Amino acid sequence: MNNYMEMTNHNLVHTYNRFPVVLERGEGVYLYDTDGKKYLDFAAGIAVSGLGYRDKELTDVLKMQIDKLMHTSNLYYNTTCGKAAEALKDACGMDRVFFTNSGTEANEGVLKAARKYAWKKGTGRYEFIAMTASFHGRSMGALSVTEHEAYRAPFEPLVPGVKFAEFNNLESVKSLVNEKTCAIILEPLQGEGGVNLATQEFMTGIRKLCDEEGILMICDEIQCGMARTGSMFAWQSYGTKPDMITMAKAIGSGVPVGAFGMTEKVAEYSLEPGDHGTTYGGNPFVCAAVAKTLEIYEKRDLVNHVRETGAYLKQKLEELKETCQGVLECRGTGLIQGIRLDKPAGDTVKKALDEGLLIISARSDVIRLVPPLVIEKEHVDELIEKLKKIM
Ligand SMILES: *Cc1c(COP(=O)(O)O)cnc(C)c1O
Repeated sequence: MNNYMEMTNHNLVHTYNRFPVVLERGEGVYLYDTDGKKYLDFAAGIAVSGLGYRDKELTDVLKMQIDKLMHTSNLYYNTTCGKAAEALKDACGMDRVFFTNSGTEANEGVLKAARKYAWKKGTGRYEFIAMTASFHGRSMGALSVTEHEAYRAPFEPLVPGVKFAEFNNLESVKSLVNEKTCAIILEPLQGEGGVNLATQEFMTGIRKLCDEEGILMICDEIQCGMARTGSMFAWQSYGTKPDMITMAKAIGSGVPVGAFGMTEKVAEYSLEPGDHGTTYGGNPFVCAAVAKTLEIYEKRDLVNHVRETGAYLKQKLEELKETCQGVLECRGTGLIQGIRLDKPAGDTVKKALDEGLLIISARSDVIRLVPPLVIEKEHVDELIEKLKKIM
């Protein structure tokens, strides 16, 4: 372990059991620690660094923006924000967006927007339905729709009016709907919850249910959005447009920024001046990152690139499953893949570090692979070689 880490780790609140490695720099899809050791990155800072590291086109724009203007507050319009908003709303299929500083805050925003919509319409609706194994963040509102007992218990009571339906079980959702239901929130692909993909039937069923009952459908695409599943946003591959969507992680390629989007139908009855705000949100610096990120995605056709490399990765993982004892299942789509083991994933993740491979887990027994979206087939081959050694 690096000495500096031993010396200074105690300055931080002990909220993480960090891996014994100190990362110093990155290049392409590789990271290097303070001893110069090289790591193949299949974690991407938890699905954030879609473009990998030191993408010159991106860093040049960021440097330019630092020299020009970093912050104005939302009391003033700025053109960088306008440009990012236009590109992002087109990419995610919504009509209006609001920039936040994180994914958690994006989810806080949509919960408030949904409550405001019901309030303004005078429906008296306030309840939320969320899913088992969901993850939406750690603040009081986002945690209230997160179904993970260990995360919740010390902080109760949380926001009232939340019910949990079984993920991918439409009947379970239906049984919880009543005249108080305000919105249904779900991840089309649960990342943290174990790499669980929503079925077509589930997504279509929820959309239909929401339309029939006057409920808002919210998709949390913080992890599964931005081409990760092989479509720009996961909902697009189902053809089930939500009323609101939340985004973060990859949208700034490492610059901390999130967003939520809504359709005009919601916007018309929802947040108004005075209802919601953020000081940093959507400042010129982070918006330069968002605008450039989206431009690069389109120019390099990353959606198709993810489809190709994702299919290759899946095929290689299926082959690995046949040869490795202890691999129970491979699941996922595009460049978010899970390997379910017959034991806790923590040991494998630690062994991978020694082999120069960064991977993460999801829940206790699933290895989660969320590499930079710019990986090539040769990197998949390198991953498989390393995994064979480890497992
Ligand atoms: C990471 C994540 C969040 C929380 O985002 P932060 O930026 O960490 O606040 C919320 N929902 C999902 C699905 C996530 O993966």
